[in-house]
Amino acid sequence: MSLDTVSRSRQPGESVLENHWCSIQGCEKWGGFGFAKGREPTRWWCWEHYPHKPNQARSDAAEIAEAFKNLA
Ligand SMILES: [Zn+2]
Repeated sequence: MSLDTVSRSRQPGESVLENHWCSIQGCEKWGGFGFAKGREPTRWWCWEHYPHKPNQARSDAAEIAEAFKNLA
């Protein structure tokens, strides 16, 4: 038995799941960042288009905090 035999025993089509590109139309970048909501299938984005970036959430929170400051 060789290593070659082991690699050939992998399921055909196994790599299909890894084949996802950014879901933004016209963007040809690799979709390395996935997000799944509930039962919806996972969507994938490149980092540039990824809508769930942690730093984006922080700036949203800062914006809200700023809005409340203006109300006070
Ligand atoms: Zn993209």
